[in-house]
Amino acid sequence: MEIRDLYRDVILDHNRQPRNFGVLVPPARQATGHNPLCGDRLEVYVRLEGERIAEVSFEGKGCAISVASASLMTEAVKGRTTAEADAIYRNIHHVLTAHDAPVEASLGKLAALAGVRDFPARVKCASLCWHTLHAALAASEPQSVTTE
Ligand code: ZN
Repeated sequence: MEIRDLYRDVILDHNRQPRNFGVLVPPARQATGHNPLCGDRLEVYVRLEGERIAEVSFEGKGCAISVASASLMTEAVKGRTTAEADAIYRNIHHVLTAHDAPVEASLGKLAALAGVRDFPARVKCASLCWHTLHAALAASEPQSVTTE
């Protein structure tokens, strides 16, 4: 399937029916992400069991790309270790920001996010949730990140 078709189908699906949408209560970790360029604002919640992400969810308002990316992200990192989630974060960041970066098959559905490279103004929409997750994993206190 072409990245472009995958992009359209997966973004539409995950925007319409976001997965893992909702709040996790403390002691779950939490971070807030804000993309002032577009107005996207997301809360990401993570509950760790040891080094493993037992639960992850998000809530907030944003454009289709920011919501779909967050939904895809929760599916991708749930059940992973924090180190694995960090590796996925770095991989996605590279795919989103380096236009000629290869899109590895191991990315699965996340490969759809590479479609955003055709719309450079939306890269921050797609990467917002990933920065927010990264902040939530990095500290036990609630965090706040902005794409600016
Ligand atoms: Zn956006």
